[in-house]
Amino acid sequence: MRKFFAFRRYLRRCKGFFALGLLAGFFAALASGAGVPYFIKIVFAEVFESTDSQYSAMAIFLIAAQLPGVFLIRGASGYLNQYWMNYCGLRVLEGIRGDLFSKIQHLPLAYHDENKSGDLLSRILSDTTLLQFTLQESANDLFRQPMQVVFAFATLVFLSLQEKDAAIIVLICAGGPLAMIPVFFIGRRLKIRGLEMQEAQADMTQCLNENLEGATEIRTFNLQDQQISFFQALLGKLFRSQMKVVKYERLTQPLIEFLSSALVAFSFVYCYLEGVPFSTFMALGGVLYMTYDPLKRIFRVYGNIQKCQGAINRINDILHKMDSIQDPENPRPAPQGKSSIRFENVSFAYTEAPVLQEIEAEIPAGQVVALVGPSGAGKSTFAKLIPRLYEVTSGSIRINGTDIRNFLKWDLRDHIAIVSQHPVLFNDTLYNNIRLGRENASAEDVYRAAQNAFAHSFISELEKGYQTLAGERGDRLSGGQKQRIAIARAFLRNSPILILDEATSALDAQSEEEIQRALNSLVVGKTVIIIAHRFSTIRLADRIFVFEKGKLTAKGTHDELYTHSPLYAELYDKQL
Ligand code: ADP
Repeated sequence: MRKFFAFRRYLRRCKGFFALGLLAGFFAALASGAGVPYFIKIVFAEVFESTDSQYSAMAIFLIAAQLPGVFLIRGASGYLNQYWMNYCGLRVLEGIRGDLFSKIQHLPLAYHDENKSGDLLSRILSDTTLLQFTLQESANDLFRQPMQVVFAFATLVFLSLQEKDAAIIVLICAGGPLAMIPVFFIGRRLKIRGLEMQEAQADMTQCLNENLEGATEIRTFNLQDQQISFFQALLGKLFRSQMKVVKYERLTQPLIEFLSSALVAFSFVYCYLEGVPFSTFMALGGVLYMTYDPLKRIFRVYGNIQKCQGAINRINDILHKMDSIQDPENPRPAPQGKSSIRFENVSFAYTEAPVLQEIEAEIPAGQVVALVGPSGAGKSTFAKLIPRLYEVTSGSIRINGTDIRNFLKWDLRDHIAIVSQHPVLFNDTLYNNIRLGRENASAEDVYRAAQNAFAHSFISELEKGYQTLAGERGDRLSGGQKQRIAIARAFLRNSPILILDEATSALDAQSEEEIQRALNSLVVGKTVIIIAHRFSTIRLADRIFVFEKGKLTAKGTHDELYTHSPLYAELYDKQL
């Protein structure tokens, strides 16, 4: 419960509307709790049971008009109450989703390795919606319904005192706690089932996400039927968990209704034996309904909060996740100009198994180093440690002599440009996709960068040129074209340190040639690390590092390594 109410902080953004909503709820509760029994006992009874039945037509009309009047107040205040509460609920949803999204932007890559993207999607979309619904309903009901109970109960006391009979109050008071027992039992069940339901929802979103991302593989490997039956199985699992929730959720209301009808029957017998007049009995019935209906709703809120616990935990997992790669308390000034990089006894593991072990390496400013070695040897990991995408397990990495953990992450990353193997193009124009490289770049800078990257000519040939939309995940461009856009970004960024992750898949001869020429000019004057999966870029390198099973086993020029490193010679010959 405490975790649930912690989310009320999001209501701060709309306190005014929230207060108005509560006020409207107050009037709705007053009209329901006291207004309806008032009519039954005072107004109708006065008219029907009075001895002098000499009401003028006008008087009867005025009395009658009060009934729709009360319901108008009840309806209008109820409507405003719902409207403002929905407003607040949706604002809360907006706030939580915004916070989750910002949090995910800053969490380290390791977090994304551990959490499937479909699961994250589900947390941001589905868990938050459940939480919003529950918050909104409960913020309203937890105020309005108790109010109604108070008003109805006050009317009950008033009526009982009039009849000089307190036994009925006792009778009705006893009913409440009695009804709690099954409700708490059901609440516990709902908590467990609710978590299962949200997890099933996450599995389904994950499957959907993978399916959409793997559209090509599914077609080429004829996986459609397999995917359909897999998805069907997940749908079935979700259905079953949803039905379990429904089973318990829908049990509270009939239980409470049954209990309250039993109480009405009791009071009927009691009133009959005690000779209580019919109008009082009817009013008591009205009061009972107006008391138990809100109780029913309060218990429903309780059940909903229980059902929501799983979603809350899944949201809190993200919101309270500590960023394992922190900025230093007293950061050093951002690195400037040409930069040397030094690995001092660096070891690293993604999980338990060491991926890099005791790496010692020095890359002087302005030097181009190529990393070679069998796949899985740790080349990409070596490069990812430099911008602190992952944190070293032991040892340190220094730029111009300063440990990179002493820089702000923003400053450090601003100093480094990365051209990745599979560059991601956002669903925006090509112009804006290149301009990501430097926020304040002028149009001229963007065009020059594209020219340097040999991207200008193919972009100009497109119908809309630089204004062409890259399409979802840049699917409308070839691999070589995407690489050249990524190189244009790097030209624009012009960072002193450059990390090139060479594409593993072969490019067509012209792309290959143009990319090589682009890279030739891109690397000038920079400290460059090339992850050479295919050796084709090795010509650019001043020096080569050979990786083998997480260890840096040899360093040198091509000629030195070819004669002294059997692994290098073997890899090189194989490629040729
Ligand atoms: P290379 O670039 O030389 O092919 P990597 O640096 O990509 O090698 O990988 C080195 C080792 O680390 C491999 O065994 C790989 O399976 C593992 N690895 C790479 N990325 C991750 C990750 N995000 N989580 C866990 N293990 C990883």
